[in-house]
Amino acid sequence: MRAIMYQGKGKLELQEIPQPTIKPNEVLLKVKAVGICGTDLHIYNGGTDVPPGTVIGHEFSGEVVAVGADVTNVQVGDRAVAEHVVTCGECFYCKRGTPNLCNKRQVLGMDLPGALAEYMAIPANLVYTFPATIPYDVAALIEPLTIALFAQTRLGSLAEKKVAVIGQGPIGLFLDQVLRLAGAEVIGMDVLDNRLTFAKTNGWIAHALNTNDSAFTEQLAKIAPLGVDATFEAVGRPETATLALEITRPDGDVVLLGVFEQPVSLNLMRLIRKELHVHGSWTCAFSFPPAIELLQQNKVELASLITHRYTLEDTPRAFVEASTYSDNRIKTVITLE
Ligand SMILES: [Zn+2]
Ligand SMILES: [Zn+2]
Repeated sequence: MRAIMYQGKGKLELQEIPQPTIKPNEVLLKVKAVGICGTDLHIYNGGTDVPPGTVIGHEFSGEVVAVGADVTNVQVGDRAVAEHVVTCGECFYCKRGTPNLCNKRQVLGMDLPGALAEYMAIPANLVYTFPATIPYDVAALIEPLTIALFAQTRLGSLAEKKVAVIGQGPIGLFLDQVLRLAGAEVIGMDVLDNRLTFAKTNGWIAHALNTNDSAFTEQLAKIAPLGVDATFEAVGRPETATLALEITRPDGDVVLLGVFEQPVSLNLMRLIRKELHVHGSWTCAFSFPPAIELLQQNKVELASLITHRYTLEDTPRAFVEASTYSDNRIKTVITLE
């Protein structure tokens, strides 16, 4: 089968490799669509310890074409998505109901072969089906939606609270939507006006603030005189982490889920004197069923985030172009026949 192989910093190659065989507890998925996210670009740019020779890609959808003898939850012909974290089920964290923290976790597209290939073998317990009303390319965005949904559940009720979302990339745009559904007054923040306009036009945010605007502090003070009740940081840069501590009111919450490429230096006295509650949010757990349900009920809009599509053969070019964040790009999706 054809697969896209990561071959070291800045190098992706289309290769012919053997089709995977499945174990009794596994499902063979014929991949239909793969989303490219910041983590993939991070791997591509050599920012991780993912070894050369890895098939990357972890946001995907496909058709089940074979199931192992022990599989009962899915059938051949099902349309399916899957979680990308393979957990052990036996460690302290798995037993406690926090499998995203499993200390033997292995990630599809990093530690195990990923989705930028014609077929992939996946443990059946990670697989979820979805109806034909959801197109495959849209279904590939269910995974990033679960990230936003899980981050939201780090906090309790957000009804009528003023909540800032720093970063209006795909994860930020999904956060806007799930926070709005939770009853929050969402304040979208970014440095790119086109993304702010997109979120505002869709009605996902109540206020759009460009953090580079000289009137930013003044504008925010009008909306939230005490500071915002909660802030979600979905960028992963020193200045946005600092901003999160600055704009959140005393006794408020900060959720960090951006992928930080470097250690960040922060003024922790801001945190101490404001008695801020800072939470990390790492991947997701038990988030696929509610994410699929939100999509099925048309409570979230995913399709309009897909701005650029490529074929599997064109994946190397997709990564070069996606790395620039230009051309009003929001989400890049690779589609397979
Ligand atoms: Zn991702
Ligand atoms: Zn475990």
